[in-house]
Amino acid sequence: MQVRDPVCGMTVDPARAAAKGTYGGITIYFCSEGCRKTYERTHPSA
Ligand SMILES: [Zn+2]
Repeated sequence: MQVRDPVCGMTVDPARAAAKGTYGGITIYFCSEGCRKTYERTHPSA
């Protein structure tokens, strides 16, 4: 199963995701640590 990195739109395999975070009880996967930081910066209340 693959998910989409919400920051850059890249498809990410959760098993190989470079970074992930849990926001509001939902785990989101990112292609890179940089995208995770960007997401957290653009969703400060998440
Ligand atoms: Zn990304």
